[in-house]
Amino acid sequence: MDNNVLWYMEKQINRTIDNLRKRNMEGFFVKNENELIILLKELITVNSVVGVGDSMTLFETGVIDFLRKENYIFLDKYKDGITSEEKKQIYIKNFSADTFLCSTNALTENGELYNIDGNGSRVAPMIYGPKQVILVTGINKIVANIEEAEKRVRNYSAPIDAKRLFKNTPCTTLGYCVDCKSPDRICNDFTIIRGQFIKDRIKVIIVGKQLGY
Ligand code: SF4
Repeated sequence: MDNNVLWYMEKQINRTIDNLRKRNMEGFFVKNENELIILLKELITVNSVVGVGDSMTLFETGVIDFLRKENYIFLDKYKDGITSEEKKQIYIKNFSADTFLCSTNALTENGELYNIDGNGSRVAPMIYGPKQVILVTGINKIVANIEEAEKRVRNYSAPIDAKRLFKNTPCTTLGYCVDCKSPDRICNDFTIIRGQFIKDRIKVIIVGKQLGY
C-alpha cells in the first residue's frame, strides 16, 4: 500500500480508537487474520461460553472455525441441521454468554457503533447481557459520522444483505433502499451505541482489510 494512504489510514484508525476509549469502549487494531486470532485468544477465556451474531466478517476472518476448534462452549447458531427452535434458544442464551462476538455495520470516527437488524438478535446482546462484547470490523466500515453511517448501511449493507438472504424486497431489485414496508423487510431495528457504563465491556477490533459489507 502507498505510504501516504497508510499514513491516512493510521490517523483515521487512531482517532477512532481514541474516541472509543472516551466512550468507555476499548479499540484495537490488528493487521490481518493471524493477529486477530492471537488477540482473540488473549481476550476470550478458555472454557467460557461464547455466542455470535450474524456476521460475514466472522466467517471471512476464520473466527467461526476458530471458535469451533478451540476449547470454548460455543453457542453455534450455524451448526448443521439446527432447527429454528434451537436457534431461538441460542439467541436467548447469548444474553448470558461470557463473550458475544459479531461485527458492526458501521463505526464512526467519533467512536459510535451504528447497526440495523431484522429481529434484534444481533443488536440486543450488543446492548445488554453478555459480560464482554467483541466486534470485529474491516477498515471499510469506518465512516466520518452518523449521517455517513446511515447512508452506508441503508444504501449498501442492507440491500446486499437482503440479497444474500433471498428477500423479496425492492432493494434486491433496485440495488438501493426505498424504506419499504415489505413483509420481508430486514431493516427493523436501528441502533446507535454511544457509550457504556461498564468500562471496556465492548471491545472493537479493527482489522486492516476490507471485510464484510
Ligand atoms: S428498508 Fe426495505 S428496501 Fe430498504 S434496505 Fe431495508 S429491506 Fe431493503
